[in-house]
Amino acid sequence: MIATSVVLESNSFRRQVCANIRKGTLTLHNSILPTVGFASLLVLLSIPGVTQRNPQLQTPQAPAPAPIPVKQVDLDTATPDPQIVEALKEISGDHIRAAIERLVTFKNRNTLSSNDQEMISQGLGVTAAAKWIQEEFERYSHACGGCLQVKTDSFTQPVAARVPTPTPLTNVYAVLQGSDPDNAKRIYLVTGHYDSRNSDTLNTKDAAPGANDDASGTAVSLECARVLSKYKFPATLIFLSVAGEEQGLDGAKHFAEMARQQGWEIQGVLNNDIVGGNTTPGDSGQRKDTVRVFSEGIPASAKPEDITRIRNLGGENDSRSRELARYIRKTAKQYLPQFQPTLIFRRDRFLRGGDHTAFNEEGFAGVRFTEYREDFHHQHQNVRIENGIEYGDLLKFVDFGYVANVARVNAATLASLALAPAPPANVRIDTRGLTNDTTLTWEASPGGGARQYQILWRDADQPYWQHAMNAPAGSTAVTLPISKDNVIFALRAVDAKGHASLLVVPRPSGRIDVPGRAAAASSGM
Ligand SMILES: [Zn+2]
Repeated sequence: MIATSVVLESNSFRRQVCANIRKGTLTLHNSILPTVGFASLLVLLSIPGVTQRNPQLQTPQAPAPAPIPVKQVDLDTATPDPQIVEALKEISGDHIRAAIERLVTFKNRNTLSSNDQEMISQGLGVTAAAKWIQEEFERYSHACGGCLQVKTDSFTQPVAARVPTPTPLTNVYAVLQGSDPDNAKRIYLVTGHYDSRNSDTLNTKDAAPGANDDASGTAVSLECARVLSKYKFPATLIFLSVAGEEQGLDGAKHFAEMARQQGWEIQGVLNNDIVGGNTTPGDSGQRKDTVRVFSEGIPASAKPEDITRIRNLGGENDSRSRELARYIRKTAKQYLPQFQPTLIFRRDRFLRGGDHTAFNEEGFAGVRFTEYREDFHHQHQNVRIENGIEYGDLLKFVDFGYVANVARVNAATLASLALAPAPPANVRIDTRGLTNDTTLTWEASPGGGARQYQILWRDADQPYWQHAMNAPAGSTAVTLPISKDNVIFALRAVDAKGHASLLVVPRPSGRIDVPGRAAAASSGM
C-alpha cells in the first residue's frame, strides 16, 4: 500500500499524503516510492498530471473511506421525459391491428414453408412474411430520412428435431444507430417471432394464423421501430423479428450467436411472445391491466465459478436479466401507471420456451413479455371447432389496444435505456474484512453523461429496491454504515435529466466465503 511503503520524514507530511490518498488526488507508482525522499515527493506532487485523480486509489485496494451518514432520496424522483411521453402517444392500436392483420394473410408462416415452392409462388408463407416485414422497416426508414439500417440475417438451418431438411431462414431487423459515438456501441433490442405453427409443427399448408403467437410480438417490434425512429437516442436500438422460434428458437439462436461473436454490446433484450391479450368469450381470468415479464434467476450462461459466487452472495435473485425486469417495472410505473407489468421470477412458463432464452444462453440480459393468461386452445392449434370449443390462433381473439399497451411499456423501456448513461463500470463491494459497514467502489460510466451515481439497496428478503441514496458528488467510493450481510446493494448512473441506467449489483473485491473453501470473484452475475 502506498501509505506504508514510504518512509515519511515528518508527521505533518504523512498527514498531508494520507489526506490526499483519501481524496484520491495522489498518483504515485508503488515501485518508485522507496527510492524517493521528501523533497522528491514534493517535486512529483507539483508536476501537472501527477496529482490528478487516480482511479487505482478508488478500487478496493485503497483504504475504505470513512462511513458517511445515510441520506435517503426517493427511489423514482425523475419526472417523465416529455420526448418519451410524446412517443408513447404515437403508439397506435390501429397500426398494430394493421400489422397483425397483414401477417395473418400469409396463411401459414411455418419456418419450413421457405422450402414450399407452392406457397412461395402464391405469395404465402414465411418467405413472403419476411419480405413484408423488411418493406415495413424500409417504409419507416424512408419516413425518417433513412435513419434505420434495414438488414437481414439469412442462413440455412441444418436438420434438427423439428427441421427435417436444410431450411432457409431469415431474421429481419432495423438498426437505429445511436447518435453519440461514445454511447452508440451500447445496444438495446426488442424482438418478436414472425413464424407461426398449427397443431403439426411440420405443416406448411393449412392455416396457421399465429395472430397472437406471435404476430402480436412482431407488431410490437414494428411499432417500436415506427415510433422511436422519429427520435434520436445516444445509444443504439435494434428492432428485430426472427423466424424459427417454433422449430427450436433457431432464428434467435443464430442472431444471438452472431451478436456474441461480433462483440455487440447488447445490454437488454425485450422478447415479446404472445402479447395479444387473448380475449375468449366467457373467460373471466384474463387481466388487461398487466403483462407478465419473465426473467431468469441463475443465468443460463453462468459458469461453475459464477454459480459459486452467486451461491455465496445470495445473488440468485439479481441476474442482469432480473435487473432488466425491475427496470421495466420502474419505467412502466413512471410512464404507464394504468398498465403495470407483473414480474415472474422464472425463466419462462412451464413446458414452454422463448427467444429470450437464446440470448440468455449467449450471456445477454433478456426477458420475455407474455399476456397475463393464455388460452391454449388458441395456440399451436389447427383452426377448427370441436366439442363446441373454437380452436386456432385467430385474429378475433387479439385485443389490439392491449398489444398497444405492451408496445408502450417496451418503447418506454427502450427509450429510457437508450437516453440514459451507461451503468457505472467495475462496481465492487469490499469483502476484504469483517465489518458492519459496506464499502462500494466503481468507475465512471463509460461514454460519459452521468451526473450522479446512486446507491440502491433492499432487505435481502425483498423483491424490489427499497432505498436510494446519492453518492457524494465526484466520488467513486463510498462507505455506508449499513451491513452488507443484511441487504443487497446496487448502483446506477443518472444523467442531468434523470434518465437512470440499468442497475449493477457489485461483485466482491475479495473472497466471500470462509477460508479454506473455494471462492470466486470473476465474471458478472
Ligand atoms: Zn411464440
